[in-house]
Amino acid sequence: MLKHILKSGFIILLFVNWQSSSNYKYIPFADNDEVLTIRVFSQVKVQSFIIKPEIGNYIVWANGIEVLNTTANPSIKLTYLNDSIELKSADRLVGKFKRIKFSSADQGATFQVKMVLPERKPRLYQDNIIVDVEQGNLKCLNEIELDNYVGGVVQAESGRLSHPEFYKVQTILARTFALAHIQKHALEGFSLCDHTHCQAYFGKPTELNIIKSVFETKNKIVVDENLNLIEAAFHSNSGGQTLNSEDVWGSKLSYLRSVNDSFSLKMPNANWERKIAKDDWISYLKIKHNYPVDDEDAKLLAFNFKQDTRKSFLESNNVKVPLKIVRTDFQLKSTYFSIVPKGDSLIFKGKGFGHGVGMCQEGAMRMAKLGYTYLDILNFYYQNTQLIDLRLLDFFKDE
Ligand SMILES: [Zn+2]
Repeated sequence: MLKHILKSGFIILLFVNWQSSSNYKYIPFADNDEVLTIRVFSQVKVQSFIIKPEIGNYIVWANGIEVLNTTANPSIKLTYLNDSIELKSADRLVGKFKRIKFSSADQGATFQVKMVLPERKPRLYQDNIIVDVEQGNLKCLNEIELDNYVGGVVQAESGRLSHPEFYKVQTILARTFALAHIQKHALEGFSLCDHTHCQAYFGKPTELNIIKSVFETKNKIVVDENLNLIEAAFHSNSGGQTLNSEDVWGSKLSYLRSVNDSFSLKMPNANWERKIAKDDWISYLKIKHNYPVDDEDAKLLAFNFKQDTRKSFLESNNVKVPLKIVRTDFQLKSTYFSIVPKGDSLIFKGKGFGHGVGMCQEGAMRMAKLGYTYLDILNFYYQNTQLIDLRLLDFFKDE
């Protein structure tokens, strides 16, 4: 009973329907940071690298036993050797182990990773790193507080020098995605990878406005009407209209609805063009999709296809050619294109860049510059959603 009274109270106090964003109030909570394990250098066959502390002191653990402290050993080299990790401090061999952990209890602890084999530019990471052996290579896991990771994702996914309000949107989406997909690589022993398969992440952010946006949106996440974390889909440019989720992925989500998006027009990725030979197009339609190319009307349509509003198919005589497959096969920037014949060729005149579902990044940047708040932007691209404090989810999980 008490729980239900409390629950009602929480709803009144904490739920923020951002349709009335001017009344928005954020209720601060005590800290309760989630720790994630992110596989870093996930696309690299790591053989050897050097770790140096940048901020704070680190302890090096080998097979669970403390073997070094970075106060006395500021440069540690790890190398794959015969199904083990060779650990060296400066040039001194410490030993060969199966697992190395590099951890610090210091506030803001940061270390540098310099890949030696293969060679890569140095990167900075926060919190801890665990190194294991996996199929002839070293597997690197960054054990990191949620918001430290989120800041790194925002810099990797949206770059530097953008608008502070846009960074807040991207931060809330990165946090929401991380929590929604925290089990994505559970069977492999970590939470998320650092590739776009999950979210791009190249370590500690350097952009001050990103660091501020993480702090200013702390604990904020987006949920749908059933309190489920949303699929925080976004793309570069919608070309003027976003798509329904089911038009791209088959599953209908209430908040991923097509919206007319004039904010994306006149932005860098708003338009594209591609020239394709008529013969190549016709052969492709016939062989891959069994499109009726011998029918004159169908052929005329294939040479003069128009999209005033976004379509999902090129369709004739009950044959449907999915535009998302055409996009993949021809590596087009988007499915939002019209076709204009020119001699032996066809000019594909396209709009937008990306899958077209959810937030359009360039449209969101434009909205931020025009003075819209991050709540306005989220509400525009993700309909019927709400912003809540992530610890409220924990409360409901106890039910
Ligand atoms: Zn992944």
